[in-house]
Amino acid sequence: MRIAVLSDVHSNLHALEAVLAEIDAGGFDGIWFLGDLVGYGPKPNECAAILQERAAICLAGNHDLVVLGKIPIDAFAGEAAAAARWTQTVLDESARAFLDSLQPQAAAPGAELFHGSPRDPVWDYVLSDESAASALALTEAPLVLVGHSHVALEISNGEELRGEPAPDGTRLELGLTRRLLNPGSVGQPRDGDPRAAWLEIDFETGWATFRRTNYPVERTQHELRELNLPEVLAARLAYGI
Ligand code: ZN
Repeated sequence: MRIAVLSDVHSNLHALEAVLAEIDAGGFDGIWFLGDLVGYGPKPNECAAILQERAAICLAGNHDLVVLGKIPIDAFAGEAAAAARWTQTVLDESARAFLDSLQPQAAAPGAELFHGSPRDPVWDYVLSDESAASALALTEAPLVLVGHSHVALEISNGEELRGEPAPDGTRLELGLTRRLLNPGSVGQPRDGDPRAAWLEIDFETGWATFRRTNYPVERTQHELRELNLPEVLAARLAYGI
């Protein structure tokens, strides 16, 4: 079974479509999505409709919960709050009902999935050895998949805990040690590579591969500027920050 793991699409339709084109060409058996479907970006309803149809597993992220009103919007500052408020005004009933049905964590054969982490499925950022160690201590799953930080990352818990950023093409053999992997963000990468980030897992061969996909960044930027959403949301996409 080959699975494409996506996270943090953030209403970036052009990034999502580019990744799905590679997935469709690559003969995958399923898509798992780790949350933050909406927020920041210009196309929430379109992205929700696609993932509702395509994703076998779909988690809720903190941005999805804020847009639904399940978390107060004052949890966000600045441009995140502005984009969440705008998303609330345009979200259609179908997208709202779909987001409302999602949970921030799930289990699958061979893996557990969280938007944040096992410590806090909604809010915890796994970016340090300490947070990774306590996340892995809270579950016995051989593979823990998390999103939320927008940074592609691999952490392994063998004789010692070891974690590194995972650039395009990083390949890891699974099953030797317990691992925590973050695919990075499809729609708003923050690790200095503006290409859409995702993760391929082949459960038959036992290998995971970090992938990056080019997409027309300028089209998403144009849509954001047309909507008068904060300029930083458009500008950052060119740099992957
Ligand atoms: Zn996010």
